[in-house]
Amino acid sequence: MKKISLMKAIWFCYRDRKMSDSEKNRIRAERLSSLVAYTKQNSPYYRAHYQNIGENFNLSDLPPTNKVDLMAHFDDWITTKDITLKEVETFMTDLDNIGRKIKGKYLVFTTSGSTGNPLVALCDRSTNNVMAGINIMRSFARRADFMAFLKGGGKTMGVFATGGFYLGNSSVRARLLSMPWKKRQFGVISALYPLPRIVAELNAFKPTMLGGYPTILELLIDEQKKGHLKIAPVIIMTGGEYLSDQLREDLEDAFGCPVQTTYSCTEGGTIACECPEKHFHINDDWIIVEPVDHQNQPVPDGVQSDKILITNLYNYTQPFIRYEITDRVVMHHEPCPCNNPSPWLTLEGRTDDILTFYENGKTIRISPLAIYATLKEIHGILRFQLIAHGQNQLELRIIPGTGYDPQRLFEAAQKNLADFLANHGVTNAQIAFSELMPMQHPQSGKFKHIINKPE
Ligand SMILES: [Zn+2]
Repeated sequence: MKKISLMKAIWFCYRDRKMSDSEKNRIRAERLSSLVAYTKQNSPYYRAHYQNIGENFNLSDLPPTNKVDLMAHFDDWITTKDITLKEVETFMTDLDNIGRKIKGKYLVFTTSGSTGNPLVALCDRSTNNVMAGINIMRSFARRADFMAFLKGGGKTMGVFATGGFYLGNSSVRARLLSMPWKKRQFGVISALYPLPRIVAELNAFKPTMLGGYPTILELLIDEQKKGHLKIAPVIIMTGGEYLSDQLREDLEDAFGCPVQTTYSCTEGGTIACECPEKHFHINDDWIIVEPVDHQNQPVPDGVQSDKILITNLYNYTQPFIRYEITDRVVMHHEPCPCNNPSPWLTLEGRTDDILTFYENGKTIRISPLAIYATLKEIHGILRFQLIAHGQNQLELRIIPGTGYDPQRLFEAAQKNLADFLANHGVTNAQIAFSELMPMQHPQSGKFKHIINKPE
């Protein structure tokens, strides 16, 4: 496999964008066949699955893969013999390793586990370079915003769930560890901090670009309007969660700058970038997206899929080939006024609720992401669901991992949650253990971890 430097990745991202359809198809086919050939040679897992796949194959000949199966065969899945899942898990028990490379080679990321067990991703240097190249070259929809960002000093601050090996947080920490002199230029504020601390740190930093999860940034709107928060970013970039039109508008209104988002995931990096029309154009030179139904059969353009299969064409260490992601999308091939010839997606909203608490006549609103991160710290909980029933009454539903005592897990969760809420000024919340299992919404079939029930 050829190594890709950051400069080369940037060049490819620039060059590929200008290609005709047929040139891009050729590049994609080349990248796919070299990835599959390499994978067959170096991953025992894929070798077994691809034993009937010859040199001339169609993408649809390759059996789809999924997180549960790949994680169960982690050591056979990855194409390098110098690392095991056990070593990665041990590495991840030390949070100081966030943003550091295991064995000096691979950055480690985990998903936030919205469908049960988290996925562990290993990114080698070339993979990181391509991810960075895509973000540098394609994340700004308008050149004018990019120029304003540079002119304003290019200072970037993200409000992310820290305390885990999540993509956003870990990549920023990796950059800071490798370039400590840049800490006035970019950084991360923990979304787990109480709001006044987040506000104070943002005021001190004065970001040109503000980044973060939509539900965290939503909590800052009031602070900016009241004048507690006094920042003047030239752009806001959200990620990690679905950004609704309403929230985009509210953020633009409060901060007086454009708000953008990307469609990304740990396994595929930035899958699609927004254009000025707010269409998510697929980075289809580096990633193949197939919208499919429940049976992994293709879904036509214009029809909502049940999930997608992604093929990441640049991660050779840990190949994701026709890998299932349970996002519903609609594929569009019709031309976009922005002139980007790549197909684009519309995404279905997925979002947890902001929780509302009351104490001493005050209303305190707390981001679901922060609560999510607090509960995820407890080892042994496979899945949870927290329901706020009003009057600060919480119900916690848990699916324990094998060998874990649910009552013990609950007590640990209750303690973490109570401490976390107390930090945010909520001292009188009642947290009850639920006999029920976490469940999907009966109508939409969608799963929410955190539900705010109206009183
Ligand atoms: Zn467009």
